[in-house]
Amino acid sequence: MNFFDTHAHVNFNAFKDDGQDLLRRCLEAGMSVVNIGSQYSTSKRAVEYAHKFSNCVYAAVGIHPVHLKKGSFTHVDPEELTKEEIPTVGEVFDYVKYLELAKGEKVVAIGEVGLDYHHFEENDDVDFLKNLQKETLLKFIELANEVQKPMMFHCWDGYDDLLEILEKNPVAKKGIIHSFIGSYKTANKFIALGYKLGLNGIITYGDGYDRLIKEIDLKNFVLETDCPYLTPRPLEKGARNEPLFVNHVAQKIADVKGISIEEVAKITSQNAKEILGL
Ligand SMILES: [Zn+2]
Repeated sequence: MNFFDTHAHVNFNAFKDDGQDLLRRCLEAGMSVVNIGSQYSTSKRAVEYAHKFSNCVYAAVGIHPVHLKKGSFTHVDPEELTKEEIPTVGEVFDYVKYLELAKGEKVVAIGEVGLDYHHFEENDDVDFLKNLQKETLLKFIELANEVQKPMMFHCWDGYDDLLEILEKNPVAKKGIIHSFIGSYKTANKFIALGYKLGLNGIITYGDGYDRLIKEIDLKNFVLETDCPYLTPRPLEKGARNEPLFVNHVAQKIADVKGISIEEVAKITSQNAKEILGL
C-alpha cells in the first residue's frame, strides 16, 4: 500500500542516528513522506533530506508558532504520559532566507506555521504573543502566495482566528490543517475554504474522533504521523513514532468508516498529491 505521510519530523534530533535508513525503508515500502521544519535549522535540514532522495521524500519550511517566543513551554503528551519542558528559540522571521528555501523544487509546502494558544505559560504576555503569531502567519501567507505553494498549518486552540485570517487573506494553493482536533462544524468550515484535514495517532487514542471520521468524506482527509510524537495505538505508549506507523492511523479510519485499509491508503494518498501539487 502506498501511504503518504504528509507531516513527519525525521529531520528532528530524535532521528539523527537513523533518519536516512528509516526514510530508505519508507521508500522501499512505497511510501511518500514530507518532513516538516519548525524553525530555520530544521527547515533547512528537511530540504537537505529531500535532496538526498530522488523522489517521494519532500520538505516543508516554516516556523512553528511556539518558536516565535524565546524561552520554553511545557508539553504534556495528549495521553498525559509525559510532561516535557521544551526550549524555544525566539526566531525572528526572515522573509528572504525563507524565500530562498521555499523556492526549492522539493519544497511542497510552507509550514508548519500557524497559531498555538495552548502552550502559553503563566508569565507570558499573551496579547503580545498572539499578535506576533498572527503577524508572522500573515507574512508566511504572503510567502506561500509568492512561490505559489500550499501551506501546512499547526493550530491549537485558535481555529476561529485561523479561519478569520484565511477568509481575509486567502492562500492561493490552500493547504493542510495538520493534526486536526476540532469539531465537525469547524472541520466543515476549513473544507469549505478548500483545505484538507490531517489525521494522526490522536484518532487511535479512543473514540473521540469517530463521529468526525464517519461523517466527513474521505476525500477531505490526509494521513500523517507527526513523528517522533503521537505514536498510534496499538503500539506501545511513548515509543518513538515513525512514518511507517501511519498504517495504524489508516486502519482506524478504515475500521470507523467500514471500508478497506487499501481504499484509505489510495484515497488519502491521492488527496495528499492533489493538495501538494504532485
Ligand atoms: Zn509537527
